[in-house]
Amino acid sequence: MTEQIQPVRGMNDVLPEEMAIWQAIETSARELLSGYGYREIRVPVVERTELFRRAIGEHTDVVAKEMYTFVDQGGESLTLRPEGTAGVMRAILSNGMLRGQRHKLWCAGPMFRHERPQKGRYRQFHQISVEAVGFGGPDIDVELIALCARLWRRLGLQRVRLEINSLGTAESRRLYRDRLVEYLRAHRDQLDADSQRRLDGNPLRVLDSKNPQMRALIDAAPVLTEHLDAESREHFQAVCRALEALGIPFRVNPRLVRGLDYYSRTVFEWITDALGAQDAVCSGGRYDGLIAQLGGEPTPGIGFAMGLERLVALLTQSGPIAAPAAVDVYIVTSGPRAEAFGLEMVERLRDALPNRRFELNLGGGNFKTQFRRADRSGALLAVILGDDELERGVAALKPLRRETGQSESPLSALAAAIDTALAAAAAQT
Ligand code: ATP
Ligand code: MG
Repeated sequence: MTEQIQPVRGMNDVLPEEMAIWQAIETSARELLSGYGYREIRVPVVERTELFRRAIGEHTDVVAKEMYTFVDQGGESLTLRPEGTAGVMRAILSNGMLRGQRHKLWCAGPMFRHERPQKGRYRQFHQISVEAVGFGGPDIDVELIALCARLWRRLGLQRVRLEINSLGTAESRRLYRDRLVEYLRAHRDQLDADSQRRLDGNPLRVLDSKNPQMRALIDAAPVLTEHLDAESREHFQAVCRALEALGIPFRVNPRLVRGLDYYSRTVFEWITDALGAQDAVCSGGRYDGLIAQLGGEPTPGIGFAMGLERLVALLTQSGPIAAPAAVDVYIVTSGPRAEAFGLEMVERLRDALPNRRFELNLGGGNFKTQFRRADRSGALLAVILGDDELERGVAALKPLRRETGQSESPLSALAAAIDTALAAAAAQT
């Protein structure tokens, strides 16, 4: 036998039986986003490598180690998107959408990062990312967080909590960065290899280290929130006050820095204690400098991205979501004439009952086989069409989920009979 082709490591199939949970999340998110005035935008999965270098930052883990970058046949360096924000900002600029206008947008799809695959961490994963561009005040920060909180409520997610912090402006962060580097240099011998590397390129990320041996050193480091500029401090206080007023619990985590360079001021993460080490289900923050960095008019922005695989894992833990049956009606045929007529009849039924789902038995088979298939399809009702029924101009209706007898309907009134029988069957389940 020919050898089978293996899937790519860290890239998953989402199987039909897992789909109910995915769709529950996607549908709730889509409805909620529309209810807050966000519009969907779709951007390519592939962008010029330069976009991510410039937006995310050369010294971030994502750009330095994790991007799927390749040179295409035309000799251009392209990259599979590792996150959604850069592409959406690029699209806003490419399409001339800015011009003093404000935008509330969302975008969903697969992202690619060459990380070490493990539970909750994959090389292809899915995000819904939400972006608000042209809004500078703390109100939008709060509204975005409230939107997340409402989504968790709607989905019945309980074990998620909010952490927030402020990174200040680029300027105040530079000042803090100098203080931090000074401190870390003084303790260079205590830094692990990862932190040594970050010290030169991206010292703030040292604070993000998950190595317990770094804990004490990090706890004693200068605190970013104490070095904020006055405006950022005010902005942050306004966010905290409004969250309190809305009754959204949060914890200020002064060590929360986020992995991408473009963030400024408010950053936040929704964390869970139910998934082990991969504990962030949704993260985001302000990126006031990003659009200018990409060559646009200086425009404030803020956004977040939720990781769908982690949300799916959380929801799966908290109990199954009933998957809807694939079809409502299974059509059993017997005899050559009935088989041929079946194709025609089911198309007519689809015309008459566009909201009902039909599966016609394909490929023949005896009654036993066909009823086994009917059972597996999840249908509530079987419609049986044999050559002798056809002769008499009728079809038989048999409820599949209860022990009620079979009935007959003239073909001319079949659609109405099916509708009635389905309604009766649904009322009894
Ligand atoms: P982490 O700290 O877990 O690496 P991150 O800070 O790199 O996350 P972001 O870039 O902010 O994550 O992406 C937003 C969300 O996307 C995360 O909160 C997480 O839920 C999800 N996510 C990020 N990377 C992965 C991955 N490799 N596999 C699955 N989900 C991911
Ligand atoms: Mg990461």
